[in-house]
Amino acid sequence: MLHAGICNGFEFDAKSGPFFVVDIQDDQLTHWIRTRIPLRRAKINIAVLSQQYCTGYCQLSENVTLPCPQRKIISERFKVCWHCFKLTGFNPAFHILEKSALSTAQLHYNNKPHYVYLAAFGKDLIKVGIACHVRLFQRLTEQGARLATVVDLLPDAYQARKLEETLQSVFVLPDRVTRKSKIKAIITYEKEQTRQYIECLKNEIISKSSIKNTFPYVYDLDDAYTTHNSFVGSSIEWIRLSRQHDTALSGYFYAMIGGFLFLQQPDQTLAAIDIHRYLGNIQVYVRHTN
Ligand SMILES: [Zn+2]
Repeated sequence: MLHAGICNGFEFDAKSGPFFVVDIQDDQLTHWIRTRIPLRRAKINIAVLSQQYCTGYCQLSENVTLPCPQRKIISERFKVCWHCFKLTGFNPAFHILEKSALSTAQLHYNNKPHYVYLAAFGKDLIKVGIACHVRLFQRLTEQGARLATVVDLLPDAYQARKLEETLQSVFVLPDRVTRKSKIKAIITYEKEQTRQYIECLKNEIISKSSIKNTFPYVYDLDDAYTTHNSFVGSSIEWIRLSRQHDTALSGYFYAMIGGFLFLQQPDQTLAAIDIHRYLGNIQVYVRHTN
C-alpha cells in the first residue's frame, strides 16, 4: 500500500522506529488529516513542493501536534503561520520573560515536572537539556541523541532550567549542538566509548553536587533510529533538494537519526537528507516492502 502526503514532522517509537508525520486531504478536500507513516522496511520517495506549507501547531496540554486549520501557504523563511504560532503558544525563552508574557497553556506546561538530562551524540559531543516529563523520549530522539541519562527530575521548568544553567557553566557543557557537528558524529559514532564518556560525566556531576543518583540508567536510543549497527565504512552522499528545479530523492529506508534520513541506493551507497529543513515543503511517498 502506498502512503502519501505532505511531511510536516517526524517521530520515533522505541520499538517500531521512525515515522513521518504527514498531512493528507480529507475526502471533501476541505481540511487536512494528520497521520503517521512508519518508515522501516519501506521504499521512500521525496519530492520537493513549489510552495512552503504551514506545518501546524502543538496542543501543549495534550502533547499532540495538529495540522494547520487554515492550510496556509507561507514564506519559505518560516515553518508555521502566525495563527499556528499563537495556537501553540510556546516560547522557548520563557526563563528570561515575565510570566505575564507567556500563554496560559505554557504557564500550565512549565509547571509540570521537568527532567534535566545529558544527551550524547558522540564521545566529545554531550549536551545538557531540559524536557517536560511527558516529552523526554520525544525530545531526545527528535534531536538524534544516541545515548542519554537523566540527571534529575525537578518540580517545574524554572527549577530545571536553573540546574541546566549551573551544569552548563560548571561542567562547560553546551545546551545546543550544531547540525554540522551532529553529522560528523553520526559517521564516527562509537557506542561503547561514548557510553564511557557520558557515564564518567554523570558520575562527576553526582560527586560534585548534592544531586542524588536517582536515575543511574544510560538509555541507548538507537533502536528508535535504525536496525543497523554502524555507519562506519558507509559511503554517504548528502542531498540538497531544490525548490526551483523540482527535484526528488528515493531509496530504501536505512536509518533516521533525529532529522537526518538515510536512504539506501541501488549501488548500496546511502543518500542522506536533513528532513527538518524541508518540513512543510515535501510530498513523501512511502511503500512498505512486506
Ligand atoms: Zn498554520
